[in-house]
Amino acid sequence: MIKSIGYAAKNQFSSLHSFEFERRDPNPDDVVIDVLFCGVCHSDVHQVKNEWANTVYPCLPGHEIVGRVFSVGEKVTRYRHGDMVGVGCMVDSCGVCESCQEGLENYCSGKHGWTATYNGPMKPDGTNTYGGYSNYIVVKEHFVLSIPDALEPAAAAPILCAGVTTYSPLKHWKVSPGQKVGVVGLGGLGHMAVKLAVAMGAYVTVFTTHKEKEDDAFALGASGVIIESDKAAMASQERSFDFILDTIPQKHDVNPFILCLKRDATLCLVGPLEPLAPINNQQVAMGRRCVAGSVIGGISETQEVLNFCAEHSIAPNIEIIGIGGVNDAFKRIEKEDVRFRFVIDMQTLKAEAATN
Ligand SMILES: [Zn+2]
Ligand SMILES: [Zn+2]
Repeated sequence: MIKSIGYAAKNQFSSLHSFEFERRDPNPDDVVIDVLFCGVCHSDVHQVKNEWANTVYPCLPGHEIVGRVFSVGEKVTRYRHGDMVGVGCMVDSCGVCESCQEGLENYCSGKHGWTATYNGPMKPDGTNTYGGYSNYIVVKEHFVLSIPDALEPAAAAPILCAGVTTYSPLKHWKVSPGQKVGVVGLGGLGHMAVKLAVAMGAYVTVFTTHKEKEDDAFALGASGVIIESDKAAMASQERSFDFILDTIPQKHDVNPFILCLKRDATLCLVGPLEPLAPINNQQVAMGRRCVAGSVIGGISETQEVLNFCAEHSIAPNIEIIGIGGVNDAFKRIEKEDVRFRFVIDMQTLKAEAATN
């Protein structure tokens, strides 16, 4: 076993504290990664606080992981010691179901579904998985991504969740040059959605409840901003969008956005894991509109978005923090006081461990 350290929560009321544990010895198809950076996703906050009522403790979050390959198992062919690599939200799936065969491991319909990078029962023994707020992680080669040289390693981290979660639906619903695309919410996911959709040639309008985010939206490349409480501004957008991506992570009313869709257009939700308020079926039917959902993206799509960001010089806007600042970062995420993603410099964890 590999002795490891990380930051974990003991229970739903606990903050994150230093935690010692063991990683498995690498199997022949495993890659051992020395973690350099890990993004702080809003879902880390939800999971640590058991807001989805499925958290197993200790909970060691982190699914936006970038690091260097430390060692590889004998069957690993794509990576070697020293390569810059990433790990996103998944570390395993059945590999044989229709979705897995099509490279959509994120929709694995195998008996156990896909295994989450943390808080995912590991097959076959059901032990809890631990994420990237740690010094090392051991991951099957298939679930390891290559980080292109053109990307700064710290800034690459949020692409592994926020990036692919927004890229996948933009691609699936074929966002193309000249289209009018809406992005609801301007947090970690929303800000990536704006950059990616703009790079795909779309005209992007941001819907936000925060007037102070207007300048940010334009700086990210948006061509319009609508403050949701402004009824006249909302009315002016009716029937005008080809596609709207809703990134709000809390329960909210989506009906005002349905009205903004053109005939046959789609509103895709990537945030809410809790049931929505009732949807106005009449408005859906009257415009032959579609309300859809999407969850992260497949492994090949994750590599695709990393490459896309490298090609288009897209990088998430990040604020680098030390591991000791992670509990404050959680509080700031809840207050939406982040532009737009915290990334933990994991050297600070190693330095902290060395002084203890
Ligand atoms: Zn995430
Ligand atoms: Zn599967």
